[in-house]
Amino acid sequence: MNEIAASDDTPVVNAMSIDVEDYFHVSVFDGLVPRARWDSMESRVKANTYRLLAIFEEYRVRSTFFVLGWVARRHPDLVHAIAAAGHEVASHGYAHRLIYDQTPAAFREDVRRAKGILEQASGRSVAGYRAPSYSITPRSLWALDILAEEGYTYDSSIFPIRHDRYGIPVSGRKPYLINRGARSLIEVPGSTTRVGPLNLPVAGGGYFRLLPYWWTRWGISRVNEQENRPAIFYLHPWEIDPDQPRLAAGRLSRFRHYRNLEHTETRLRQLLTDFRFDAMDTVVSRARLELNYDPSATPALPYSW
Ligand SMILES: [Zn+2]
Repeated sequence: MNEIAASDDTPVVNAMSIDVEDYFHVSVFDGLVPRARWDSMESRVKANTYRLLAIFEEYRVRSTFFVLGWVARRHPDLVHAIAAAGHEVASHGYAHRLIYDQTPAAFREDVRRAKGILEQASGRSVAGYRAPSYSITPRSLWALDILAEEGYTYDSSIFPIRHDRYGIPVSGRKPYLINRGARSLIEVPGSTTRVGPLNLPVAGGGYFRLLPYWWTRWGISRVNEQENRPAIFYLHPWEIDPDQPRLAAGRLSRFRHYRNLEHTETRLRQLLTDFRFDAMDTVVSRARLELNYDPSATPALPYSW
């Protein structure tokens, strides 16, 4: 595989993805801005997402937008514009509740509602899902069954790392098939690079914003060149908005959320210059072909549920 990669000049096409939510939706601010107050908050998600759309147009990049159903209900025109520009519309659920804090019935209602709103606004079917704060963990694997039953065909919610709120460190680093009786789901994990015994996240969000840019460039190059595999990159619209209102969170949360907001757009432009990107659907289709060809290459999740 590596010999083929070395003799092939075509750069690997990575996946670009945006979790479309407002600055007050993020899980580190849970409790600071109760859901009852969401309606009265200054909303900046629409302007920030339009800015991302303009950047992607400039660099001729397709992206996947995992849109929060709550945002889509208020701004169906935004969802329509994302689809009309040729991007993929996918689901970030409806109310941004961590999966392991919900009952299976409430989760089913949340993902069903989001899918319906997104499909109506975009005029397209929605295939992909990403959980708030990657909250599919050993405690919430039941969510995968519900996603498949509700018509989702891929998921991007299981991060193979150790983190205080999420992650299954022993789960696969590359896309894998989750077979559940008659249904299946392709899991497309966020990208990591292997350093000693650890999987370290290299492609997006806080890791992109808080760490120096060379970390992301090194990590994606490593995934592309050593594994001949696309990286899965993710960002939020609020991460390119240095002027967002500041919330009175604790010190660690403020650091995680506000640091380097003023540099993220420049970095994103550098990233789009340094690497090739397309939407998740392209990467998922290729993974599906590969998995159909050789299902034994798929590391199953090391759990039964
Ligand atoms: Zn989110």
